Formats: sequence, C-alpha cells, structure tokens
Amino acid sequence: MTTSPPIAVVTGAARGIGLATTRLFIEQGFTVVMVDRDAPELEKAAATLTGTEPLVCDVSEPDQVAELARELTRRHGRVDALVNNAGVADFRPLEDTDYATWREVMATNLDGVFLTSQALLPLLKVACGAIVNIASISGLRASTLRVAYGTSKAAVIHLTQQQAAELGEHGIRANCVAPGPVNTKLALAVHTADIRAAYHDAIPLNRYGSEREIAEVIVFLCSAKAAYVTGQVVAADGGFQSTGVGLP
Ligand code: NAD
Repeated sequence: MTTSPPIAVVTGAARGIGLATTRLFIEQGFTVVMVDRDAPELEKAAATLTGTEPLVCDVSEPDQVAELARELTRRHGRVDALVNNAGVADFRPLEDTDYATWREVMATNLDGVFLTSQALLPLLKVACGAIVNIASISGLRASTLRVAYGTSKAAVIHLTQQQAAELGEHGIRANCVAPGPVNTKLALAVHTADIRAAYHDAIPLNRYGSEREIAEVIVFLCSAKAAYVTGQVVAADGGFQSTGVGLP
C-alpha cells in the first residue's frame, strides 16, 4: 500500500527564503504547494523542481486566499505544514511613512498570515498540522527605521502565540522564526551600505545568514522532532538578538 506524501504550503515561495524552504521540504518527501503573487517568477521556480504545485495567490486578498483554500481542499484535503513566509519590507521612520505604505506592509505581512491561517485551518485540523510564521528580528527590537515593517512583524509574533494558545487542542502547533539579515531581493532593496556594515559588526557570527540556514529552522519546527514545541519565537540571527545592540 502506498501512502501519499505530506503536504506543505509555503507562501512567498517563488524566491528567497520561501524557495529554499520549498527545496528542503521536497528533500524530506513533502509535496509542496508553492504560493506567490508573482506568477512568472513562481512558474520559473516551480519548473525547476519536481514535487511542487505552483498556485498564484496574493495572500493579502481575502477572495484569492479563499480560492486557494478551495483548490487545496479539492486537490489534497489536508495540510501538514503551513509556512506563512510572504513578506514585503519598508525601512522608514514614522515621520516619513505614508498611510498607503503602512497599509501595504500590514496587508501582506500581517493580514496575509491571518487570512491564510484562517482559510487553511480546516485542512490543518485534518492533519494535526504545524504552522510556522516568518517574523524578523525587526519584530523583536525597535529601531529608528521600520515603523511599518517592525510593527507588522511584532504583530506576527503575537498572532503566533494566539494561534498556539487556540489551536493546541486540535493538535496544531504554531511557531515563529525571526530571521536576521539574509541576502535576498527583499534585503537588497532596503539594506544600505551603512546598514550592511553595522549588521556585520553587530552580529556575533559577523555575517548574513543564508536562505538555507533559515529554511532548516522552519522545516525543523514543522517536523515531529519539534512535537512538543509551540508558541515559540526562534531567532535565527547569528546571535544578534542576544547582544542587546540596537538594530542599525
Ligand atoms: P523575497 O523578496 O526574496 O521573497 C518574498 C516573496 O514573497 C516574493 O516571491 C514575493 O513575490 C512574495 N510576496 C510578497 N508579497 C506577497 C503577497 N501579498 N502574496 C503572495 N506572495 C507575496 O524576500 P525574503 O527575504 O525571502 O523574505 C521572506 C520572509 O522573510 C519575509 O516575510 C521577510 O519579511 C522575512 N525576513 C527576511 C529577512 C531578510 O533579511 N531577507 C530578514 C528577516 C525576515
């Protein structure tokens, strides 16, 4: 008798940390539903990987997330691991952040996690699945920049704790990974030369992390090895959070 592979849903899977997480799940025998709003980049990434199913969806759009849930119900009827990774960044202080930017950051980084977790909850219940939300060290420590980004990520940390408290009775675990800086397209857009130099000095391991290093923590938290871990924030940040040094 053959058993079907477990199902992982990774949002923001077309590149960066989401793509590395997809690759690692595949190596571990999962079928990965790759979700992203960037259709061309998603198709390109999925075409290089067997064991993946690309689905275009903007996680900040309730109708699109509802359709995603219907499609997953038709195809698989269960979700074993949900990684809420899709995110956008904006590094500006309160004074310079216009309301449209604030809404845009909240819509993807916070609303997206709420909408996707809620819509996929019946499928997670079927599998006693695991949720991993991707926050940031910017959600753990305030800075003179990042009013929208940092606030959205702090809210994701709290949302994770709410999920863990509420969903434990269904056997669903919810944890959060707070990455330090990783050289992705997102970071390239907001990390100035000054920020890069300051991070390098402030991080005990004196370097940026890799996508794969973050993916390893995400996939571990989804696995049975983390069966008694829920409601936690794991900082994968080269030790930055332990130093007490401020964010650049
Ligand atoms: P990235 O820009 O390389 O990838 C993000 C992906 O998310 C893209 O493919 C993008 O199209 C997709 N996406 C964005 N908004 C979406 C939406 N509304 N719906 C669906 N897909 C959407 O970024 P990354 O660095 O890999 O970031 C992944 C996560 O890690 C984000 O949540 C980010 O905030 C977090 N993070 C990144 C860093 C870093 O330094 N790179 C540090 C801490 C946290």
